[in-house]
Amino acid sequence: MATREESRRQNNQQHELIPLAALISRELKSEKMEKPSVSYGYAEKAKKGEDYYLVKTDCQRVPGNSASTFSVFAIFDGHHGNAAAIYARDNILNHVLAAMPRELGRDEWLHALPRALVAGFVKTDKEFQLKGKTSGTTATFVIVDRWTVTVACVGDSRCVLDVQGGAVSDLSVDHRLEDNEEERQRVIASGGEVGRLSIVGGVEIGPLRCWPGGLCLSRSIGDVDVGEFIVPIPHVKQVKLSSVGGRLIIASDGVWDALSSEMAAKSCRGLPADLAARQVVKETLRTKGLKDDTTCVVVDIIPPENALPLLPPPKKQSKLKALYFWKKLLNYTNKSSKKLSPLIIVEELFEEGSAMLAERLGNGDSSAQSASGFNCAICQVDLAANEGISVHAGSIFSTCSKPWQGPFLCGDCRNKKDAMEGKRPSGLKIM
Ligand SMILES: [Zn+2]
Repeated sequence: MATREESRRQNNQQHELIPLAALISRELKSEKMEKPSVSYGYAEKAKKGEDYYLVKTDCQRVPGNSASTFSVFAIFDGHHGNAAAIYARDNILNHVLAAMPRELGRDEWLHALPRALVAGFVKTDKEFQLKGKTSGTTATFVIVDRWTVTVACVGDSRCVLDVQGGAVSDLSVDHRLEDNEEERQRVIASGGEVGRLSIVGGVEIGPLRCWPGGLCLSRSIGDVDVGEFIVPIPHVKQVKLSSVGGRLIIASDGVWDALSSEMAAKSCRGLPADLAARQVVKETLRTKGLKDDTTCVVVDIIPPENALPLLPPPKKQSKLKALYFWKKLLNYTNKSSKKLSPLIIVEELFEEGSAMLAERLGNGDSSAQSASGFNCAICQVDLAANEGISVHAGSIFSTCSKPWQGPFLCGDCRNKKDAMEGKRPSGLKIM
């Protein structure tokens, strides 16, 4: 006679026969669901020729391992010439990757990204300033690794997220003195003056600017001729999309001066990425005319089951056909959004916008320490044991109780840090 326990186990086994098959199929499905496909398009209409963009879809976290592929999309809107925008486009990715600890798994890698983005941006700025050229640039730099999107930005080239069935949200912050009270206060506290251009008779015109230099932005890369309180330290936001994916619209202020985030997202819904980018630029010109360089990159993160089948190259592909596949995808996501409504929510993994390096580079915990060894946390130069200066040393903003702890900076980067925080007149170097 079977005990109660045995009969319960037998019952369970009978019950599990079918669900097990379902479970395996579900697991296979979720494995497939792990990797969305990424499709992108870009469009531009130049006026001054100072907008540049970067698209790189074949980056690998582990060189040679295609499963570790990630994509990079960026926009650089230059001012006072194009040198800074070109320099940032050509160097910033390498500087970010150079600041990443080696041999990390995906999760740790994503976790380490925000810090490396800060280091990469500051290094790019520092190097460009050494060239003695007087231009500057915004930088909105987006890393897409499967469902995780990380956005680092200085300036006002916005990155907008449009989630199917969800709201439109900004993944970047506009560093414009006119619109950003927090940044105005920071600049003034660091020794800058904020005001408008004044013409004869003392009449003030135009947007708020920062003096010396007269820049409307509070953060940028380059700009050797403005105060050091115009910092290259990016606002960084990292989100994880749900399995319905989403669309990123990254564009220069040529677009955002004409369209709100919502308007831009709505103007191109239903179109595949390449047509969507063109549509956003078209809508901008229709609304305001060509007032400024206008550049737009659209990135679609698409669930794998809905990945568009291999189509002929874009030139041969008819608009109608592309629309058809996109509609199919929309139908699916509409259906699944009803079923999976709780999953629609975008998970926020990280957000930090402080301009203080002590807060951004974090405490020298054991993993960061062993990975970077005795390197400068910004420029990665080797430091002798007695050479590094803790990023926390002498900082009233320090969250670290041990100012002798890392991460460490070389003398040059420490000078840069002090100048950015208004502790040293800009341009003056202590030898
Ligand atoms: Zn350094």
